[in-house]
Amino acid sequence: MKKVLIIGAGIAGLSAGVYARRSGFDAEILEMHTIPGGNSTSWRRGGYLFEGGMHWLTGSSSGSPLHRLWQETGALREDTEIYNRDPFFTCLEGSRSVCLYRDPDRLERHLRDIAPEDAKMIHSLCRDIKKFRKMAMPVMDIKGVEVKHKSTPPLSLMFSMLSVLPRMNALGKTSCGEYVAKFKNPTLRKLFGSMIGSNDFTANSIHFTLGTLAAGDGGYPVGGSLAMARNMASRFEELDGTIRYSTRAEKVILQDGRVTGVVAGGEFIPADAVIVTADALAAVDALFDPPLHEPWMDEMRRAVKPLLNTFLCFGVEADLSELPENLLFSPKKPLMFAGESFPCLGINNYASFAGYAPKGCTAVTSALMGDSYDYWKRAKEDGSYQSKKERLASDMMDILGEQFPQMRGRFAVWDVATPLTYERYCGTYKGSWMTVMEPGVPQASYPLKAEVSGLYFAGQRMLAPGGLPVAVSTGRTAVQYLCRDSKTVFEGEI
Ligand SMILES: Cc1cc2nc3c(=O)[nH]c(=O)nc-3n(C[C@H](O)[C@H](O)[C@H](O)COP(=O)(O)OP(=O)(O)OC[C@H]3O[C@@H](n4cnc5c(N)ncnc54)[C@H](O)[C@@H]3O)c2cc1C
Repeated sequence: MKKVLIIGAGIAGLSAGVYARRSGFDAEILEMHTIPGGNSTSWRRGGYLFEGGMHWLTGSSSGSPLHRLWQETGALREDTEIYNRDPFFTCLEGSRSVCLYRDPDRLERHLRDIAPEDAKMIHSLCRDIKKFRKMAMPVMDIKGVEVKHKSTPPLSLMFSMLSVLPRMNALGKTSCGEYVAKFKNPTLRKLFGSMIGSNDFTANSIHFTLGTLAAGDGGYPVGGSLAMARNMASRFEELDGTIRYSTRAEKVILQDGRVTGVVAGGEFIPADAVIVTADALAAVDALFDPPLHEPWMDEMRRAVKPLLNTFLCFGVEADLSELPENLLFSPKKPLMFAGESFPCLGINNYASFAGYAPKGCTAVTSALMGDSYDYWKRAKEDGSYQSKKERLASDMMDILGEQFPQMRGRFAVWDVATPLTYERYCGTYKGSWMTVMEPGVPQASYPLKAEVSGLYFAGQRMLAPGGLPVAVSTGRTAVQYLCRDSKTVFEGEI
């Protein structure tokens, strides 16, 4: 049996592990953390559970092609409850709530009531949503691999995708920022401007997201990120795969143009193949001596615009179930942080989830999007890191307390995860967990098979914008390359 070492027990690594075991490889995962999941994680502080990763999962719906992959990898079990939040976002504007409903007809009626001056834009958006809801990431097999069960996307999906292509390309030339600026109504600008995480993304990111939601997909598996990752880790272990936790891969060893193994914990572990699922952008430098410089790797080093955030968590001794679950608001004074002004803030309110907080209390999180990596790096170097975290948490608690009197003076717990935290735990470039897809730039997609024999890559960085769907599907595809190269039949289905 050929031995494959997989670096990283994030979603891509666990996916690769499951498919490698099913296809008969002796698969072992090396994970530097003590738990699986990587960026898809949650953590407990003082009785509160903070969801630090997944906010919505493409493929949560059984109608989506990706659903099969989540089932095959054990992420979604028969009894996994999926929560489909609707409205998906709520923007509070004085006493008025502006809601992002999933159903495009309902959304159109609602938004036209709020902003009749934008009727034309609203209609065009909702018409596009109906087209985009027929889109889905197809699950396919690579050319030349022998598979036990063929994965052929249905023709209907291919036709729908072809019919959306012209609109997708047109919207792909505009940024979210430019698209959102076309709305005259400031609340609508705020609502759509806060959806994607960066105004630099192509405008069609808004349509993809709303299309996914309109298709009844993009739910939240109850239990959250860590529970989902643990499900996948159990599936891998049930298949007799091994995960070595607290084991950092130091170097991948190459000899005569092929992989021979990995050095981890001072030990050389021989292998016939290695699948790197740690962020490729960081790994091509950190895991190879000298760093690898295949053409696509240099292109990746040049082109990637990372998406990152500073993540705030609060344990509030109040039941916030009367507040919307995912809300946007404009504080009286903008939050100032890392030299940036945040005039609009968003919070996730987990009041309706059992087990996320002590009885009568609520776990609340907020992501401040933007590249604050250098700000935190400097703070670490000049010794002000902890005090800057405290200051940020305190400013945010003041704002929340002012905006929502039910929270005032009720903060029992706070936590701040900075890009340095993500970098430390996941080894990602600048602590980033996705890639910005910019207008006019072809979708960044990198080969999963390196020129070095026996070396493969998978994970969020391999196909922009990344995220969980890319992680799970590239894990599977990397194993198909491995199967093709080693003349092994790929087996994926349960
Ligand atoms: C706040 C937040 C919200 C998000 N929301 C969503 C969402 O709603 N929907 C969505 O689809 N995506 C979301 N994402 C993105 C998603 O979580 C990531 O894109 C995805 O988890 C990446 O998975 P991965 O396996 O490719 O990489 P990673 O999660 O980075 O996993 C890599 C693993 O490799 C390990 N590793 C790294 N270096 C080494 C080494 N040298 N030796 C051993 N192990 C190593 C790391 O510890 C890690 O476990 C979100 C992310 C964050 C942080």
